[in-house]
Amino acid sequence: MVVDPICGMRVEKTQAIKLVRGVKEYFFSSHHCKEKFIKEEVWRVFLSHPLARSSLFKNYSLNLNTILNDLKGIIKGALVLSNIFLDKIYQINEG
Ligand SMILES: [Zn+2]
Repeated sequence: MVVDPICGMRVEKTQAIKLVRGVKEYFFSSHHCKEKFIKEEVWRVFLSHPLARSSLFKNYSLNLNTILNDLKGIIKGALVLSNIFLDKIYQINEG
């Protein structure tokens, strides 16, 4: 039996979906879990870098969800700002 790192499900090795990364092998219960793992891979690599562990990201305590939520907040903020900006442009054009 192997353990899916994404959902934690125990899967029969012969039936699991395999992904090879260097010398490591990962096993998944479904293609969905494998895709999720690949999507998060860039974050995992980034967070394992010494720079990410230093000052700037120290407060995140390497919590992927915190960073993703903060990014969502930043994107939401940018959307609000761009809407305000567009409103101003419309006002100028109409006025
Ligand atoms: Zn799974």
